Amino acid sequence: MPTTAYIGLGSNLGDKEANIRKALAMLEEVPGIQVKKVASLYKTAPLYVTKQDWFLNTVAEVETSLTAHEFLTLLKDTEKKLERAPTVRWGPRTIDLDILLFGSDKIESADLIVPHPRMIERAFVMVPLAEIAPRLCIPGRGRAGELARLLSTDQSVEKFDSSQK
Ligand code: ADP
Ligand code: MG
Repeated sequence: MPTTAYIGLGSNLGDKEANIRKALAMLEEVPGIQVKKVASLYKTAPLYVTKQDWFLNTVAEVETSLTAHEFLTLLKDTEKKLERAPTVRWGPRTIDLDILLFGSDKIESADLIVPHPRMIERAFVMVPLAEIAPRLCIPGRGRAGELARLLSTDQSVEKFDSSQK
């Protein structure tokens, strides 16, 4: 039985839109992965380390026959292939790929925590997630649409128009 997973994608270095498109195209080519839905691109202000360029973010729904750890390894390999150089935590990156949800799995291992522990505080995750899955339930927290509405009032997240690059 394939698992429906949600991934968060973000970029704030180089051609941000191309980085996100490339990451999605690379995932789509992997046997055992199908990209089902992709939200719009959003231009977002950096959180935590705020003296860096703005980010482009989106969220994708994928169906996969991989295990959660195989999926994490794949995302890390994809980041490497797109030349994500090691940098400070929450600093600039060509591409950041996070597992937000993996079916209804709850995972707390040293290298993987799912649901992603910071997703519900991040409008740059919750707004695109709510666009493609407004009724999706975040265990113990509520529906994506409701959670996104609460956050989007105080964090800067706007739809990105790629024609005005
Ligand atoms: P962030 O995504 O918070 O900006 P990083 O991408 O630098 O930070 O964090 C990478 C590390 O986080 C990875 O080494 C990975 O093992 C770990 N990690 C834990 N849970 C997850 C998850 N749900 N998705 C992706 N990486 C995760
Ligand atoms: Mg990450």
